[in-house]
Amino acid sequence: MKTADTITIAGLEKPVKRIALGTWAIGGWMWGGPDDDNAIRTIHRALDHGINFIDTAPVYGFGHSEEVIGRALEGGKRKDVVLATKLGLAWTDEQKVFRDSRPERVRQEVEDSLRRLKTDVIDLEQVHWPDGKTPVEETAHELEKLRKEGKIRAIGVSNFSVQDMDRFGAVTPISTIQPPYNLFERATTERNILPYAEKHNAIVMAYGPLCRGLLAGKMTSETTFSKDDLRSSDPKFQAPNFERYLAAVEGLKAIAARHDKSMLALAIRWILDQGPTVALWGARKPEQIEGIDEALGWHLGDDDKAEIEAILNKHVPDAIEPDFMAPPQRD
Ligand code: NAP
Repeated sequence: MKTADTITIAGLEKPVKRIALGTWAIGGWMWGGPDDDNAIRTIHRALDHGINFIDTAPVYGFGHSEEVIGRALEGGKRKDVVLATKLGLAWTDEQKVFRDSRPERVRQEVEDSLRRLKTDVIDLEQVHWPDGKTPVEETAHELEKLRKEGKIRAIGVSNFSVQDMDRFGAVTPISTIQPPYNLFERATTERNILPYAEKHNAIVMAYGPLCRGLLAGKMTSETTFSKDDLRSSDPKFQAPNFERYLAAVEGLKAIAARHDKSMLALAIRWILDQGPTVALWGARKPEQIEGIDEALGWHLGDDDKAEIEAILNKHVPDAIEPDFMAPPQRD
């Protein structure tokens, strides 16, 4: 069931807030390194603001994000949270990431995540990227076995095509789908994923809702990124694209101001008004949580939506999808 601000995931009892805490940056890898004290305070601040849904993955800091979450939830907080993690990416000693969803890897990853998260059950286990070398049915079958064993409660997929979801869903129900989705990265999700989710009673967990910070509205053409920051290799953040995206943000800010809202609240609200969605807010500092309440409890009107389309068409008619993030196949 979906309300303005909560939604229920098939297979789980507790309704979740439609803003979840995304914890990739908390792992440090590709985000300029970890800062555990700030990370733990961020998680606690999110819980204080009623966020009861946390998304992580083993690959975020090569286990580090999961470990930090496990520590943050010690002392009784675990029961208040719906914990979502992922599997299907492996890495070498040199931290080269590749896809691996073979059944034996699936089982090992669930055991590793349970240990790092200091829990005895994972609420939502998602396949991070399809593994082109393992039939999706084999991955789905192993996950279904783990669900029956009580180690995971619900199953989701991320970065899957409709064809792969059809095959996977024939083995075990898909409760959630996690694609990139934000004002600047929307084409594939609107064409394929949202219609599929509506038809199959799945929830869309929109990743990158702030477009890696661009839609937080605080960047300028002077903003720079360290070498270990993925935005150094994201074409949106390079000239001349960066200026076009920043111009679009300036236009969008005027709509946000009309509602007496921040740019960031507008970006999140837009996602929540598009269908059965949850936005994965990628925060790593406690103060970044403060804006969350502003995104809840209101709606964009048809006139706002039409104006948003006009701004996007004017400044970024050829919007760049986040294909650069896709990890390689295994050898
Ligand atoms: P995001 O939420 O779109 O953006 C994160 C960026 O927003 C960070 O740069 C952060 O700034 C900035 N930010 C957050 N709160 C802010 C605030 N209050 N004021 C100003 N800036 C703020 O992007 P994301 O982290 O890429 O994605 C969110 C989550 O989605 C991830 O954590 C992860 O859980 C999930 N994800 C999944 C996949 C997948 O393949 N399934 C891929 C990507 C992400 P700072 O840099 O200053 O901290």
